[in-house]
Amino acid sequence: MAVAAHLPSDMSDEQRAITEMVRQFADEQILPNAEHYDHEDTFPEPIVAQMRELGLFGVTIPEEYGGMGLDLTTYAMIVEELSRGWISISGIVNTHFIGSYLLMKFGTEEQKQKYLPRMATGEIRAAFSLSEPELGSDVQAIKSTAKKGEDGKYEINGQKMWVTNGLLSALVFVLVKTDPDAEPRHKGFTCFIAEKEAGVGENTGEYAGLNVPPKIKKMGYKGVESTELVFDGYRCPAENILGGEQEGLGRGFAQMMDALEVGRVNVAARGVGIAQRALELALRYSQERKTFGRPIAEHQAIQFKLADMATQVDAARLLTQRAARLKDAGERSDLEAGMAKLFASEAGRFCVEESFRIHGGYGYSKEYEIERLYRDAPLLLIGEGTSEIQRMVIGRKLLQRHKI
Ligand SMILES: Cc1cc2nc3c(=O)[nH]c(=O)nc-3n(C[C@H](O)[C@H](O)[C@H](O)COP(=O)(O)OP(=O)(O)OC[C@H]3O[C@@H](n4cnc5c(N)ncnc54)[C@H](O)[C@@H]3O)c2cc1C
Repeated sequence: MAVAAHLPSDMSDEQRAITEMVRQFADEQILPNAEHYDHEDTFPEPIVAQMRELGLFGVTIPEEYGGMGLDLTTYAMIVEELSRGWISISGIVNTHFIGSYLLMKFGTEEQKQKYLPRMATGEIRAAFSLSEPELGSDVQAIKSTAKKGEDGKYEINGQKMWVTNGLLSALVFVLVKTDPDAEPRHKGFTCFIAEKEAGVGENTGEYAGLNVPPKIKKMGYKGVESTELVFDGYRCPAENILGGEQEGLGRGFAQMMDALEVGRVNVAARGVGIAQRALELALRYSQERKTFGRPIAEHQAIQFKLADMATQVDAARLLTQRAARLKDAGERSDLEAGMAKLFASEAGRFCVEESFRIHGGYGYSKEYEIERLYRDAPLLLIGEGTSEIQRMVIGRKLLQRHKI
């Protein structure tokens, strides 16, 4: 039974073609295999290999660096489709995308030449690291430090937490404190491009001092690894400061906050994808399952649930697309990105829970896909800023825009 969303009519031909291609990929390669990788909690290497072939690691990277050069709006459409398949798959692309955004926007030409072509093919993947064991929302509380040594290299020390793609990435865009006395405080942070060996727990040689403990065990969002990173005397050349030492030292906080804005559109698209899938599952199950002599879809209480879910999915998609289009047009989109992230991640949770209820007891069984979605959806309420933090961002931006 075909219950997938119709593609919006305002898509360009290119957007339609690529979205259809990714939807087919999700239907044929992700959905039939997600349960296996989720259950085993293993990295879905064959799926990722196909994503490399499709060029999905270089969607937004300019063509001159080997990517597709597509805009954020098209990227968000792709992420929705991947996430409809399994949010762990979109997670593998997510921090990689943020890393490439940081390089494209703030990197020196040398840095772009060095990393972007290999990132576009997926030969190397990127992680993004702000959080620490004692902080997530309060980024300015970061304790990890980098100090310049006599040889001109910076020594990084400290512990990072919850790094998506922490083990298998070859590059970590890591925010650390370089000037504890800076006034204002945010000028004391710098973003380093920390190179490491992908897949190695204890780095040696030029990457010695960067260790990756075993992956964190999670309730959902399996397959993609989340790890701590321990920097213990890791030495990073000054040329690996994002934007170069001259331009980039002390600019890391602003750079990361800029990247978080597109990251929020990205997470919003993931919320739309999981909400859409939950709706599809509910539409199908409610027409198959009978109670009191008729399909449950004929009970008004169930139809109301379907109506609320479909409305949330469409509203979330529209907010997400609006935020992406504003960003692509070079217009201010901080408020809109916060709204999209808040609404779409909450819509994801809502639709998954409603779909779960519609599945009755079977929703609680691992035989049914909704069980996985139920464990996956809450992540989106947390990553790239919790719902509480989004409300703070939205409130602050509203007051800035409407100051009397
Ligand atoms: C699976 C997973 C993957 C992740 N991947 C990454 C990654 O790749 N890179 C990375 O850097 N981080 C990552 N994170 C971390 C994530 O960004 C943080 O968990 C998130 O920002 C929240 O921080 P926290 O967990 O420290 O919660 P806290 O900041 O301790 O917040 C705890 C609670 O207090 C609320 N709260 C905090 N401050 C306020 C306030 N001022 N007003 C009202 N309420 C408040 C929060 O909303 C939350 O409900 C990941 C997390 C998870 C779970």
